[in-house]
Amino acid sequence: MKYLSTRGHADRKRFCEILLEGLAPDGGLYLPEHYPQVDTATLEVWRALYDQHGYAALAFEILSLYIDDIPAEELRDICQRTYTKAVFGTDEIVPLRELENSFFLEALSNGPTLAFKDMAMQLLGNLFEYELARRGEQLNILGATSGDTGSAAEYAMRGKQGVRVFMTSPKGRMSPFQQAQMFSLQDANIHNLAIEGVFDDCQDIVKAVSNDLDFKRKYRIGTVNSINWARLLAQVVYYFAGYFQASRATPEGGTPDTVSFSVPSGNFGNVCAGHVARMMGLPIQKLVVATNENDVLDEFFRTGIYRVRGSADTHETSSPSMDISKASNFERFVFDLLGRDGSEVKRLFSDELGSKGFFELHEHASFADASGKYGFASGRSSHADRVDTIRDTWKRHATMIDPHTADGVKVARPFVEKGVPMIVLETALPIKFAATIVEALDQEPERPPAFDGIEALPKRVTDLPAGVSAVKDYIVRHCA
Ligand SMILES: *Cc1c(COP(=O)(O)O)cnc(C)c1O
Repeated sequence: MKYLSTRGHADRKRFCEILLEGLAPDGGLYLPEHYPQVDTATLEVWRALYDQHGYAALAFEILSLYIDDIPAEELRDICQRTYTKAVFGTDEIVPLRELENSFFLEALSNGPTLAFKDMAMQLLGNLFEYELARRGEQLNILGATSGDTGSAAEYAMRGKQGVRVFMTSPKGRMSPFQQAQMFSLQDANIHNLAIEGVFDDCQDIVKAVSNDLDFKRKYRIGTVNSINWARLLAQVVYYFAGYFQASRATPEGGTPDTVSFSVPSGNFGNVCAGHVARMMGLPIQKLVVATNENDVLDEFFRTGIYRVRGSADTHETSSPSMDISKASNFERFVFDLLGRDGSEVKRLFSDELGSKGFFELHEHASFADASGKYGFASGRSSHADRVDTIRDTWKRHATMIDPHTADGVKVARPFVEKGVPMIVLETALPIKFAATIVEALDQEPERPPAFDGIEALPKRVTDLPAGVSAVKDYIVRHCA
């Protein structure tokens, strides 16, 4: 399998070459040259594999379609070491819970940092370790986080040979629990940088540093942001696992059941993995993109207009991991939508967005139609919706959900169809966002015992202004 850039760069690369990279040299995102197709018979084989041999075995099957430059036995071993009950809490790894008739939550948040990002990041940590050892190289990971990415990255990379993590976050904007999770890590290879600004400032700094090719090469800068293809690929697996748990086995020659997914969305990484699963042939009816008040994506799927927001128009909400002004993975979907025309993608994302701040796509009918080629639907949730949904889910189902998952549940409701299971991806546990839970339920969320008292631990963090040079200087000083 070779990988290309969404902006048409001529080079074709292999998996291990793009594993340690962020953006392609032309500023685009990497995608495979084609999506391997999975037929009904293969789906049934994989269903049995997941039932009998578990998630790691399923992950190996899917990953090996996209990774042909790691020997199969090594890759299988990496999957087995990553997706264990010890790390993710259950044999299923991503168990479904039925809230009501055919309306499910898929639990993706039982990894070390209690958010779905562990699903991909734990794999990435093991892939990085493998590849860096093979090359005899070092890597300095530079990332931006509004909370969940950073902690997932740090817990995946802590103590790993050959890797340092420099993680920027918007100062004071993460929940106390999230800050404690990250800043309490004492590992020497982990650096927390609190930036005076919002998440997008952090993201812009990371992009600017990565675009400085000399600096990037000299200081061996890599990224683990959601634009990393390996992360997205890891996320494809749980769409299959969710499907297997919610659907029935297909009698020979029969038509497979379809399922729908509702995905709390920010940078379009999670739901883009659903798009890839659907392009591979997983029978997904609808992919529901759930946004919060930062509704860039909902606006696009309703109107065909993609309009990025400025920092001033980016709202600070009670589902903060979805507070984005532009959706960094969205370009991947547009590339597919436009028949993989790299020069057109480049024109839209570089020229049009650069000059006007928005673009409009008239192909919009083909993705807004759920029975059509892409199956996307969308909706927006507000703080009041979130609180109501948390309360309602607690009252009616005795289940406590976090604010992001609540957005997914709220937005999913109008898209439920008879006979089609709806699977809402649970993206974090309530303990990470205690203030909103207390507001909704008048009680503290449950805290897994391993996290008792973490807010009181000593913190390791450096404050920096929102500038590219301050971050570069810090990296230079700590790369000796
Ligand atoms: C990162 C995150 C999201 C958004 O995921 P994207 O891949 O950026 O769309 C939603 N919920 C939680 C809890 C997250 O951590």
